[in-house]
Amino acid sequence: MAEIILALDQGTTSSRAILFDAGGRILGTAQREFPQYYPKPGWVEHNPADIWETQFEVAAEVMNNAKLHSESIAAIGVTNQRETTIIWDRKTGEPIYNAIVWQCRRTAPMCEQLKAEGFDTIIREKTGLVTDAYFSGTKIAWLLENVPGARAKAEAGELAFGTVDTWLLWNLSGGSLHITDVSNAARTLIFNIHTGDWDDEILAKLRIPHSLLPEVRSSSEVYGESVLFGAKPIPLAGDAGDQQAATFGQVCYQPGLAKNTYGTGCFLLMNTGEKPVPSNAGLLTTVAWQLGKNQPMIYVLEGSVFIAGAAVQWLRDELGMISSAGEIETLAATVKDSNGVYIVPAFVGLGAPYWDSSARGTIVGLTRGANKCHIARATLEAIAFQSLDVITAMLQDSQLTIDTLRVDGGATKNDLLLQIQADILGAAVERPAVTETTALGAAYLAGLAVGVWKSTDELSQQWKIDHTFEPTIGDDQRQAMLAGWRKAVEKSRGWA
Ligand code: ADP
Repeated sequence: MAEIILALDQGTTSSRAILFDAGGRILGTAQREFPQYYPKPGWVEHNPADIWETQFEVAAEVMNNAKLHSESIAAIGVTNQRETTIIWDRKTGEPIYNAIVWQCRRTAPMCEQLKAEGFDTIIREKTGLVTDAYFSGTKIAWLLENVPGARAKAEAGELAFGTVDTWLLWNLSGGSLHITDVSNAARTLIFNIHTGDWDDEILAKLRIPHSLLPEVRSSSEVYGESVLFGAKPIPLAGDAGDQQAATFGQVCYQPGLAKNTYGTGCFLLMNTGEKPVPSNAGLLTTVAWQLGKNQPMIYVLEGSVFIAGAAVQWLRDELGMISSAGEIETLAATVKDSNGVYIVPAFVGLGAPYWDSSARGTIVGLTRGANKCHIARATLEAIAFQSLDVITAMLQDSQLTIDTLRVDGGATKNDLLLQIQADILGAAVERPAVTETTALGAAYLAGLAVGVWKSTDELSQQWKIDHTFEPTIGDDQRQAMLAGWRKAVEKSRGWA
């Protein structure tokens, strides 16, 4: 039996394809970047053809390189940049406009209007999301309003909307599948996370016809097949948004298990089980996954840190204190602590749990003896403190406790950062052997559906840790550091 899974990881700047064997090991990787379009300030678009073509090319390439034919592939799993919105003609498969990317701010005024009308409360209750231009709903509304003829065609049932997973599955299946999964649907602003279906009240408010929408399926089941890779059709069997897929790839299967991705910013997701937990701290309540048709939806709380690795880039590019991101570790490791220095990298304001757009970056606690090593260390601490703030909010909202934090992303090469995180969190930090957790999660979802793996227990057992960072400081020291951080955060507020 074929046991190799092809994971398609369609990201914001590149499309990737990774082959995994039944042991969860990587057999091959291919990646291709594609152009970004910025037609106006704050607007971001992709060409849907670029998304599909680069994704197809890397899939074919990784199979060619590994000398594999379709017979060897047990299933394809898809994971994707979330919220990005595409509408196409059902007959021709031609998009009516470019993909409106999640980052695009063009519908910010529409969101302000919804908030002014108090409709954000309804959106919050039903979708678990804040009313923001990130999410697909207002982007769909914009396309229907602004693309000539779009509304009439949509009303006539001639158009199809999809997030990027939907677009890929449509193309992979030769136009026979128009589906999404619960985790992607949960990012559209029009999906009711309690009922597991599109929400008629929100659809009516945004004037989005039901006929435009894909069928919502679970994240792990055989949806259909693709005949594009050779003689044998390959089952299309897994689908999840990138952050949820990463959480699945980090085997965070029990309530209280959480992952943090340390990149430019941080993305934190904590499993809250079968219960959608509303947040008092402005976190998002969203769907993690659903493992098969008749299975319950599993929920997460999600929060992000705006500036994490970007603070390291700032030391490198703006201050010239280091010449590469990796150097921060060497510099910070030369001192045993930050010597009372705190940095709050609130360059674009503060996110959860503060939500203060008046905050700006600040450095406090400087003395005559403070040097660049202390500043380097304080920068790493700031990444860890900001992550802690989000986790603390999650724990308060959910009444859960945290034993371990699983980590991935570019900055997790930095052992010192992860040690500091364990110390500040007072819990173990686990870095997995396979750090391609997003693609791994998509592979796991697809492999479960076709029987390459029998259960999530099997995946938990197979999943390997590269290194566990245990806390090494006592509670007194932790509390003292935290008290300093809180004072520093207060100093950063009210500047803009
Ligand atoms: P993204 O997916 O957001 O582009 P990546 O996961 O590729 O981000 O990670 C890149 C980020 O990680 C950059 O902001 C960079 O400054 C940071 N980074 C890379 N290596 C290190 C390191 N050794 N220590 C701390 N930060 C690092």
